[in-house]
Amino acid sequence: MSTDAQPWDVVIVGAGLSGLAAGIRCAQFFKRVVIVEAHSKLGGLNSYYHKVDRSHLFSNGLHTVTNFRPTSRRWGRDLVMRNLGLDWESLEIRPPRYPSRISLPGVSLVFDNDPRVLEESIAARFPSEVDGYRRLFAAVERESVAAQASHADCFEYLRTFIGSPELVAALALPVLCYGAYQEGAIDSRLFAILFRSLLIEGCGSPIDIKSLLDRLQARFKALGGELITRSPVASFSVESGRVRAAVLADGRVLEGARFLSSAGLCETGRLCGTQWGRPGTISVFQWIGAYDRPLEQLGIRDTLHFAASCVDYTWRIPGDRVFSDLITYSANDNYAYPQPGHAHFKISCFSHYSEWSLADRAAYEAQKRRYADELLKVTYGYYPALAEAKPLVEDLFSPLTVERYTRHPGGTIYGGAVKTWDGRTAIPNLFIIGNDQGGVGIMGAMTSGVLVSNLQVILPKSA
Ligand SMILES: Cc1cc2nc3c(=O)[nH]c(=O)nc-3n(C[C@H](O)[C@H](O)[C@H](O)COP(=O)(O)OP(=O)(O)OC[C@H]3O[C@@H](n4cnc5c(N)ncnc54)[C@H](O)[C@@H]3O)c2cc1C
Repeated sequence: MSTDAQPWDVVIVGAGLSGLAAGIRCAQFFKRVVIVEAHSKLGGLNSYYHKVDRSHLFSNGLHTVTNFRPTSRRWGRDLVMRNLGLDWESLEIRPPRYPSRISLPGVSLVFDNDPRVLEESIAARFPSEVDGYRRLFAAVERESVAAQASHADCFEYLRTFIGSPELVAALALPVLCYGAYQEGAIDSRLFAILFRSLLIEGCGSPIDIKSLLDRLQARFKALGGELITRSPVASFSVESGRVRAAVLADGRVLEGARFLSSAGLCETGRLCGTQWGRPGTISVFQWIGAYDRPLEQLGIRDTLHFAASCVDYTWRIPGDRVFSDLITYSANDNYAYPQPGHAHFKISCFSHYSEWSLADRAAYEAQKRRYADELLKVTYGYYPALAEAKPLVEDLFSPLTVERYTRHPGGTIYGGAVKTWDGRTAIPNLFIIGNDQGGVGIMGAMTSGVLVSNLQVILPKSA
């Protein structure tokens, strides 16, 4: 066991988006900041990999980056960027070329980065609901900055503005798909944050997630930050009620003053030898296909598409079948890149970890194929030309893949069932960042890294 000679000011577990953002923020105020990442690649839930002799770069998660438009509200994208010392333009996040869609039987709404598009779409299909929608739109801003949620159930919250069950279901759908971390419903406050991020402030995308991660990594290193990869933290050494050191699986011991963890509340508790939080159940099955021509030529003229097979869906994943009731589609090359983007089409559905087992490898592969075929069958109903086009390369991943590459128990994609909100844990120098603080999504995780660093690490230092 080797101990680094000088203790670190801040030790951060995980080089996902929250860990990188926290690293950059802390490195502006402290000399010795280290990020420890278990994997060789950065990004965690939103990472990348190569297929077929490195000729295809797949971003496993990137459907969209929210909060695209500048806003006057306090915690908009520009404040996050200012805190990171980055210029939004330098991230090369491009707006969509095509609108996005929400579809349920008998309902098709469109939205893009101009919020009037959604309002007009609602006015055309639900003329008597427009006033209610305008009130919801105005209330979302207040709700998202409130300390407490006004409603425990986002469906109830929506019903205080909207009478039509179809419109309630349509407006809840993209938000639930984009960040609902627990089954049943999320509360009105998180609903409002996600609704505002996605449907009001709009979306964009870098050409792949690697370019964004490279930019964050370069900024962290330019500030003198240290990055250790391929080295999981095996445990925290806790003495007299404080974390003294992070002990790496290779035996290295990183003593430090403050620790930030993006490993999740349950996993962070386990690293301390205790039990915190409750594991989540929301994971994903995803199919990615790479095509030899632009997706628009295959009739895919949506950027994002949230589709439900029925109006009275419940936000519960049955766990005993392919859950094709709610599907998210994303068309990577339908953003306005200066050069052609990757023609990658992604189809995602929610899935329970408990449905999957690696005990029999052949059975596991067959199950993935069956899931993909069923999703593709539903998809051809929306995009018939796709049925005739063979992808150059395809890939499938299950909740087990997510768990393997992120170490999140159960392969959860939006974290566990308990959020810490202020980042604090029972140990005064150990804090939670990312999904389990409540910052879900790419921008949510980055905001979380900045916010917790400011509140718990930087402000107390200068007090
Ligand atoms: C398929 C999919 C699609 C998505 N699409 C979008 C999208 O389009 N837009 C969007 O905004 N969001 C999307 N998300 C959600 C978004 O990716 C996450 O909310 C966000 O990336 C979470 O970041 P994080 O830093 O909290 O956690 P993570 O990304 O999970 O980072 C945690 C890091 O910690 C590392 N780690 C864990 N344990 C240890 C340990 N013991 N030692 C060292 N390192 C450790 C992990 O390897 C990981 O790199 C998607 C997620 C998935 C899975």
